[in-house]
Amino acid sequence: MKRIVILGAGESGAGAAVLAKKQGFDVFVSDFSAIKPQYKALLDAHQIPWEEKQHTAKCILNADEIIKSPGIPDKAPIIKEIKAAGIPILSEIEFAGRYTGSKMICITGSNGKTTTTMLIYHILKSAGKDVGLAGNVGNSLALQVAEDPHDIYVIELSSFQLDNMYDFKADIAVLLNITPDHLDRYNYEMQNYINSKFRILQNQTAEDAFIFWNDDPIIREELRKRNLQVTLYPFAENPDTDVKGYTKDKEIIFETSKGTFIMDEDSLALSGKHNLNNSMAAGIASKLVDIHDDNIRASLSDFAGVEHRLEKVARVRGVDYINDSKATNVNSCWYALQSINTPVVLILGGTDKGNDYTEIEELVKTKVHTLLFLGVDNSKLHAFFDGKVPVIADVHSMEECVSKAYQLAQKGDTVLLSPCCASFDLFTSYEDRGKQFKQCVLNL
Ligand code: ADP
Repeated sequence: MKRIVILGAGESGAGAAVLAKKQGFDVFVSDFSAIKPQYKALLDAHQIPWEEKQHTAKCILNADEIIKSPGIPDKAPIIKEIKAAGIPILSEIEFAGRYTGSKMICITGSNGKTTTTMLIYHILKSAGKDVGLAGNVGNSLALQVAEDPHDIYVIELSSFQLDNMYDFKADIAVLLNITPDHLDRYNYEMQNYINSKFRILQNQTAEDAFIFWNDDPIIREELRKRNLQVTLYPFAENPDTDVKGYTKDKEIIFETSKGTFIMDEDSLALSGKHNLNNSMAAGIASKLVDIHDDNIRASLSDFAGVEHRLEKVARVRGVDYINDSKATNVNSCWYALQSINTPVVLILGGTDKGNDYTEIEELVKTKVHTLLFLGVDNSKLHAFFDGKVPVIADVHSMEECVSKAYQLAQKGDTVLLSPCCASFDLFTSYEDRGKQFKQCVLNL
């Protein structure tokens, strides 16, 4: 019997274990941290042996294949040992893909993945398709393939998942953008990160579709180097290049083999330039799976948005409060600032991922009158922004931060939490940071 060992018993690992067991493998699960009770219960219910708070090498290095959680970096000692032993390492998506022939719509990019994934899912589900949501959102693909299969899957793929995918093929691949992120996991080489994102295209043929943002210089440059067979669906802001999707006279338009789609830009539920891209990519993908234009229009205009992404929290005494806690890199904050047309009180800070704030400097100078730094170590933010904005203050908790913002904001302003940084210094996650922000605003 072939042995499969799963490293990491989160959503993807636990799901992969259930699928592997169902396929008749000898399965073992090992997690270096504590396993959450719901995943222990799932493993126990399927009689799958597991260990937590350790990796026992002799129970791992006898595997035929390893399924690794995307959160475990290559430099982890156990991964080094596995590589030295020559055991193949797969991602959960690669493994699950072996056991389903369903249509796969896969979304990657540095920013906008979750929004676009949820948007496509919303359009397909509202149109009555049998569709599953997987990848970084929803239940794991493996668990759905094992216990609740669907005709179509909409899958959000991070670069870490893509790194361990080899034979998997997306029928429709969406690449939203590529800007520097996670370089600490890519040897600080941008090209490694780009290569990882482009793995979304591997194995695609002329029958498959590749939807991408043609205004992205990194994507364009990379495409110049590659000889792709897949059918291309570039989209852009302007119709002047050879693109299939664009905006013109306040309408979004895209052309596919299934006809031309036109929609009034003002009817889109999501605002901001970046969301125009997300809506366009979602619309093209939906059209390619034969969703009727009326259904696409209806869903693009009634989508409720995703929590912690430019989420409107409340208007208090004429000041709008926006929760963009998921903006954990500089580029996503740029898009948030760009979408706001009022003076801004901007909350930045957290765990720095090697940020260069030059990208937002001009927007901050023109739109922001107050900067609040919410982090344990704000020295890098001070070094960059001091003297560039009229008011700068350090705050040490969300409560203090929101109360300071309330004092300093004026009627007609927007208070924007779009921190450019990870959240782990003061919060357990970006969700925790966003929820605390919302609670404090609602308590004002
Ligand atoms: P991801 O899943 O890739 O992290 P999200 O949809 O969760 O992306 O959005 C993360 C952040 O990026 C949010 O702050 C959001 O406002 C911003 N954002 C969303 N879409 C885009 C886009 N197409 N380009 C740039 N930034 C975006």
